[in-house]
Amino acid sequence: MVKPVMISMCEIKNDEPVIVGTRVELQLLTTLKCNLRCSYCVLGVGDILNSQKHASYTVDQLKAFIGTHLAGKEIYISLYGGEPTLNTRFILELMDKLPLSRFNLQTNGTLLDRVPEKILARLSNVMVSLDGGKEVTDGYRGGGVYDKVMRNVEKVRHNLSGTLTARVTWWSGETSFEELDELTRTFDYLYFQFAQDEGAYGPESVEKKKQVLSRLVERFFLGREFYPVVPLMGTVRNKVLPSRMYESAAGLSQCRVSTNLLNIMPDGKIYPCPDMMYLPELLQGDVVANWVRKSPLQPHPDMPCEGCSAFHFCRRNCMKNMHLAYVKGNDNWKKNVTEPTCDLIRFMGEEVDRYHPDLWFAKAPLSYRNKIAGAEVYEYCEVMP
Ligand code: SF4
Ligand code: SF4
Repeated sequence: MVKPVMISMCEIKNDEPVIVGTRVELQLLTTLKCNLRCSYCVLGVGDILNSQKHASYTVDQLKAFIGTHLAGKEIYISLYGGEPTLNTRFILELMDKLPLSRFNLQTNGTLLDRVPEKILARLSNVMVSLDGGKEVTDGYRGGGVYDKVMRNVEKVRHNLSGTLTARVTWWSGETSFEELDELTRTFDYLYFQFAQDEGAYGPESVEKKKQVLSRLVERFFLGREFYPVVPLMGTVRNKVLPSRMYESAAGLSQCRVSTNLLNIMPDGKIYPCPDMMYLPELLQGDVVANWVRKSPLQPHPDMPCEGCSAFHFCRRNCMKNMHLAYVKGNDNWKKNVTEPTCDLIRFMGEEVDRYHPDLWFAKAPLSYRNKIAGAEVYEYCEVMP
């Protein structure tokens, strides 16, 4: 069970805007149940997984919360879990009662073929979680999962009105360029995030990831068609149109965790980052009690980002990694996850610079420029890896 948490009301400063900007993403953990048992699941930390079966607040309570604290903002909803397709009744009610909102589904893809067509047609984007190619994905998620997901994607394709995005958590040094490249053909977009795992960054694994990154960047700039790989699109956007990262997240972390992302647990408790709902000091609000404060996950003077060569496009990538390393003082996390991830991000930025992104963008077709500048998919993922 998740322990109850008390936040003193004097910690809530009423004069600070809760949400920066005009849009807010409500990431609803509609259930913490999941039909898979991925070996690394972050919800296993603090025994979060399976602790709350289904949303226990009502959609009317959520609407009252929105009316009180988010009036005038554009609300869009990411359906998250656990596995959100295990609670389609709640999704249908949300879609019915929040008709003006956009919806994004974050799913492991194994139950996609059972999702009602009415839901599929209403989704702006579906994010399907993978770990790379077949071997690596099945290794983490269970035998046969990769093929099952690909079959389901094929089955539901024609019922989707929105985009389909592969969300790859990049753990393994064995994940190849070819495996990632293949996903850009099956999906509309590929988003990858460097794994947050202390075992993922041995020197050999980092070196192999750099080699794959180099090939992805080369393919991005020299390929014949637009290459829809979100962290590369986002890096180019932030380099050539830096004002866009201020529009979307006030120049702070591009995952919006410091500005305009609210993760709502099934019991209505709100946290800024879905990976750290076990830390009581990060409690940000409560739908049922109808209160919310500014995200407590903010830049800290001990974080090294402002002196970093990647800061102009990275903007503190993952605040979880930064918070654990430099605020909580977790030296193992810093050495084994945060620092190697930052090394990879700096490397990726240097590779992008080798192709002169400003000159490339200046000559790119209008359709490319529009996607780089304002693809909707940026709003459904963390943009940076
Ligand atoms: S690479 Fe690391 S240190 Fe540099 S800005 Fe990004 S998160 Fe901060
Ligand atoms: S990128 Fe990091 S800080 Fe942002 S939501 Fe994901 S885990 Fe949390």
